[in-house]
Amino acid sequence: MGEFQLIEKYFNRNVSVHNCSNIELGIGDDCALLNVAPDCSLAVSTDTFLEGTHFFKGTSPYAIGYKSLAVNISDLAAMGADPLGFTLALTLPDDNESFVAEFADGLFDIADRFKIPLIGGDTTKGPLSVTITVFGNVRKGHAIKRASARIGDAVCVSGLLGGAAYGVALRYGKETSVCHDTDEKAFKLLDYPNPRMDLVPFFHRYNVHSALDISDGFIGDLGHILDCSGVSCKIELCDFPVSDVLMHLSRQKQLDYALNGGDDYELCFTLAEDDYNEWIEASEKGLAPIIYRVGSINSNSSCESEQAKTRGIIFAEHGNQINPQTLRHSFSHF
Ligand code: ADP
Ligand code: MG
Repeated sequence: MGEFQLIEKYFNRNVSVHNCSNIELGIGDDCALLNVAPDCSLAVSTDTFLEGTHFFKGTSPYAIGYKSLAVNISDLAAMGADPLGFTLALTLPDDNESFVAEFADGLFDIADRFKIPLIGGDTTKGPLSVTITVFGNVRKGHAIKRASARIGDAVCVSGLLGGAAYGVALRYGKETSVCHDTDEKAFKLLDYPNPRMDLVPFFHRYNVHSALDISDGFIGDLGHILDCSGVSCKIELCDFPVSDVLMHLSRQKQLDYALNGGDDYELCFTLAEDDYNEWIEASEKGLAPIIYRVGSINSNSSCESEQAKTRGIIFAEHGNQINPQTLRHSFSHF
């Protein structure tokens, strides 16, 4: 099957399905045409997936298609943007049509769930690689940047952490299987991350100041917010939200996965104390998603002791500061 028939058969299939008033022209011309409302900014993000680096050799084509778009949608959510469309640059080692068919099924399952049309791309031959660029819409001045955390903000995460990293450890044989169902759950968290687009309206309603998605691990990613905003923070570990799949491990190991493990694609964000309280009130009535408070933003000067901090983060248990040196054994990435 030639390149153009391949594109026509497998990729030119959802622009017309979703009533995309913003897409003037999709696949088929030299460029796609996007219309952005005058009071909106265009949010753009790209991610590349390489076999061996971003997914294990042998990952199903369906999962590759699904995850490569999921993590890009996650970036839009972390910016407070609504999805407009995406492009796909696909490099294939050969013209394996069954690979393309399965890949496209995974890709369009999530594309259709988030009503995001594929508007263009490129198809080439070479080692397997998937590059997706997503485009989103956000009202001017309302994008949620990493640099806008404020002193006194509550630091929150949108879900339980560490499950996907446990899936990685299982795949590498660094953990041994204890329960088939737990393994399957961990692999599902790793292969099928759920972009938290559902939080976007609440980010705007409760004036979230800064946000990002947790792709490289909570500590490292939160560090980006702290660096960009010029602030520090205190993280309380005693109720830290760790994934169900870690429950059979020691508390130290649970925290290691939850704090350092990547691939969760939950969102970490900061908002004023009053707005946090309002969100919690709404979520207790079932009117807003559940969120987990993990700490507070402080001024940089409140984090002076080099010994006690890791990238501007002070750790506490039951309010008492703990020395990360004592955790060094378990928190291998410190
Ligand atoms: P050009 O030669 O102008 O780069 P191509 O022949 O690469 O155009 O692509 C023809 C059309 O098909 C373009 O509209 C392009 O955006 C689209 N296209 C190519 N590959 C893909 C793909 N993998 N997914 C979606 N659209 C694609
Ligand atoms: Mg081209």
